[in-house]
Amino acid sequence: MGQIVAEFPLETIHEMKSYYQHSLTSTPQGAIFRAKTQHAVITSYRSGKVLFQGGSPQTEANKWTDKSKSLTGSATKPKAKSKKSTIYTPSPTLFTSNHIGSDEAGTGDYFGPITVGAAYVEKEQIELLKEMGIKDSKNLTDPTIKKLSKEIIRLKIPYSLVILHNEKYNQLQKKGWSQGKMKAMLHHSAINHLKRKTGDSPYDGILIDQFCEPGVYLNYLKSEKRTLPEKTYFMTKAESYSIAVAAGSIIARTSFVNEMDKLSEKIGIELPKGASNKVDQTIARIIRRKGEGALQSCAKVHFANTKKANKYL
Ligand code: MN
Repeated sequence: MGQIVAEFPLETIHEMKSYYQHSLTSTPQGAIFRAKTQHAVITSYRSGKVLFQGGSPQTEANKWTDKSKSLTGSATKPKAKSKKSTIYTPSPTLFTSNHIGSDEAGTGDYFGPITVGAAYVEKEQIELLKEMGIKDSKNLTDPTIKKLSKEIIRLKIPYSLVILHNEKYNQLQKKGWSQGKMKAMLHHSAINHLKRKTGDSPYDGILIDQFCEPGVYLNYLKSEKRTLPEKTYFMTKAESYSIAVAAGSIIARTSFVNEMDKLSEKIGIELPKGASNKVDQTIARIIRRKGEGALQSCAKVHFANTKKANKYL
């Protein structure tokens, strides 16, 4: 019998859980999962520590050691610490605590605004929201998203929404703002609105669906003389882990879809989402009917699509 303890980033723990999905046994208190293989019993704790125990723990641990942050135990050399900063990585306990999450929509779409939604979720609501099917809006159809968004409102989940309309987007872009900076400032204002709206209710953390390195995000804030609120964390694919981020993504997506409907009506042409050839053809139609100036109010004009539309003119 031997045992090895290692610490892993959350993504790896989730990877492990699905890797061992057919070997899972009952989960002890405080653990994320426990699995039993012919070599070892693997117990993963919310702290990020994973315990490998049994006849040949090394066999299981070896499958993951290149992803571990630190490793202690028999016959194992300590691994070098990951270079990436982890102070902005949330503890897995955040997902089951009171927290704020934020996500955006519309950033890759030629037409339409960028929208950012933030939601404040209390731990007692998390199970219910999960059961209702609140999850990453990328995996949901537009009608489902709209329905869920109504549910979020009905349940009085505190949320905030900010919209960067195309005129303003194009102005900022001309001024030299990157899309990353726009997104950072939008997340920042959505989160601050929400914090005020909730009367600064106690929260265990703020989770931003990561779109750039935390250091880069901080620099964006700094360039506009803003500071990061306390206990702010970043992670990629956060909407798959956090109900608050998932709710934020649904709010953002619903607003984006609604704004697209309004713009389509205003222009008198159905505006497609995304940035495909269909978009290029639609750009050409708009230019023919209304002139290139009309794009300022409905498109992210610096996207390559504007030039690509020339071949349809
Ligand atoms: Mn996102």
